[in-house]
Amino acid sequence: MGEGVGSRRDVAGDESWNDGSWNVDVLRSCVESYYPILYLVTFEDEQCDKVIRKLAKGRKVLEWNLALGCVDFDSKRSQTEYLDLPSALGNYLDQDLDNHFIVIRDAHSVLPNSPAAVSRLRALVGRIVHDEGTVATVFLVSSTAYVAPELEPFITVFDQAPPEEPDIGELIEDHARAYGYEIDAGVSSNLVVACRGLSRYEIGRLLNRGYQRDGAIRGDDVDLVLDEKRQIVRKSGMLEMVSARAEMGDIGGLDGLKEWLAQKAEVMKRLPEAREFGIETPKGMMIVGMPGCGKSLTAKATSALFELPLLRLDVGALMGRYVGDSEANMRRALHVADTVSPCVLWVDEIEKAFAGIGGGNSGGSEVTSRLFGHFLTWMQEKTKPVFVVATANDISVLPPELLRKGRFDETFYVDFPDEKERRAILCVHLRSRKMNDSGIDLARLASETDGFSGADLEGVVKDSLEQAFVADKRKTEMKDLLNAIDSNRRHAGMMKDRAEELRDKYEEMGIRNASR
Ligand code: ADP
Repeated sequence: MGEGVGSRRDVAGDESWNDGSWNVDVLRSCVESYYPILYLVTFEDEQCDKVIRKLAKGRKVLEWNLALGCVDFDSKRSQTEYLDLPSALGNYLDQDLDNHFIVIRDAHSVLPNSPAAVSRLRALVGRIVHDEGTVATVFLVSSTAYVAPELEPFITVFDQAPPEEPDIGELIEDHARAYGYEIDAGVSSNLVVACRGLSRYEIGRLLNRGYQRDGAIRGDDVDLVLDEKRQIVRKSGMLEMVSARAEMGDIGGLDGLKEWLAQKAEVMKRLPEAREFGIETPKGMMIVGMPGCGKSLTAKATSALFELPLLRLDVGALMGRYVGDSEANMRRALHVADTVSPCVLWVDEIEKAFAGIGGGNSGGSEVTSRLFGHFLTWMQEKTKPVFVVATANDISVLPPELLRKGRFDETFYVDFPDEKERRAILCVHLRSRKMNDSGIDLARLASETDGFSGADLEGVVKDSLEQAFVADKRKTEMKDLLNAIDSNRRHAGMMKDRAEELRDKYEEMGIRNASR
């Protein structure tokens, strides 16, 4: 996003929200400072109309939407002519637009495929910016933001903030009154907390579902909120809620990282108290290093340790086809993470999204650096308890700003496990398959597996179990494990040189070793 877009979004985020979660004062100041295009991202058209009406104060409001073309703003009655956006804009350009608001709905579905509409919008902006006789504001209103690159400097994006806790309480009370049921005070306050981050529409929908189940809202209806949040995540397309659980006890070694996480877990679990004490909300950590050394495992175990849902961001799905898509996707994904917070957001293989920034002036790399800028701003300024775990195999392609101190609370590198760690990892995998009996010499296995990653060690345990099964043995013996080590050795040794090279680089960069 350009400066204007990012900074205004931030101004909006800092102020207290009012009127259906729109900050009318900030919007008004933008209108009065002649910002040409205000982009309102919302699902709630009625609320949005109310706010526009409030801002208009005697100005004439013109509206175009995808379903009906040009309509009367108040009655929504179609004005039959100018059904498509370019003709509607052509028509507006022929008019005296002084003291006008021009509301364009569904912009995200039209603008990406309509150079004519973008160009006319640009002409309109030219009039607003340069012609003193045209005091006007364009409102783009849609459920997701599409910022055409040609218009980017002129657009200021506002997301509708979800209702605050007292407003949620009011929504619940209103619902109970309207449907004539009593709601227990304890249930209501649990529900208020659980609904944080949902829009008015979503809260209304889940109250209706709860009511339909048994004619009232009860304690067990809180599970509907989690359902609703799961739906939001699923529909976003770029995020998935990971259900594969792993515990801290499933990680062998990485003691430094585990100790650090245990401390953060205390803070995350007692966040209000910690904040009062002057502690900042943890931002998250970056884990870099060789494949198969426990990065993904750590992301999963973090969510279990923090007792929070784990959201995985699919970086590949983020990169959209059109310029602008990827940014809209990123904005949406981060918004969803904010919405379902508190949560752990795992950005897997982060290097895929941000690799090669600054490498030439192609459209692709511009998009990547804007994406990156947006991500950094979000990381820097997020107030919601979203703990980011970013993982990367190859940091040589990552922009140095991402690794700079202060972005993440800490950056760790995971190396191939040392002998003591290999012993711990083997123990984890033997134990989980009930193979840890007295006949197994763990010390010997650990010393025979220099250069093996955690994944290689797991492979050894799995292979040996299979060999024992095929040979019709009652249990796996030391011999089977040693055979499996031999057959995995060549593969395991291949990455050793690369690992040594990287280790030197990480040490040079002052990145912390996860094992210490
Ligand atoms: P990556 O670093 O590539 O994300 P993963 O965390 O996916 O690696 O590791 C793959 C598998 O290897 C894990 O699911 C786990 O079974 C095993 N593994 C890797 N490191 C460890 C470890 N430190 N302790 C226990 N198992 C490990």
